[in-house]
Amino acid sequence: MGTSNYYKCGKCEETITASLIDITGMSSKVMAVKCNECKAIGDSTIEQHIDWNDETVILTPSCNECGSTNVVKWDKKCPKCEDKMSNIGIALLWD
Ligand SMILES: [Zn+2]
Ligand SMILES: [Zn+2]
Repeated sequence: MGTSNYYKCGKCEETITASLIDITGMSSKVMAVKCNECKAIGDSTIEQHIDWNDETVILTPSCNECGSTNVVKWDKKCPKCEDKMSNIGIALLWD
């Protein structure tokens, strides 16, 4: 079971939800990514475990908003003003 956290910018009050970097859940591994196309930040599944044949599939990270694969690992900077965002608590649990 993994968690996503709320991150808030100290400057412009922008709040986003992203997982802790490189966390592993029961059946998948996610990474917080930033989209170079639409600047959205979100969790992208990078590894998915297939139960029936016990195989792990490596997935290309992509943007949840626009579907672009032009994404980079999120550096914890605010998408609006580039200020460092701070973790303000757990948003949700996933598995
Ligand atoms: Zn900001
Ligand atoms: Zn995007």
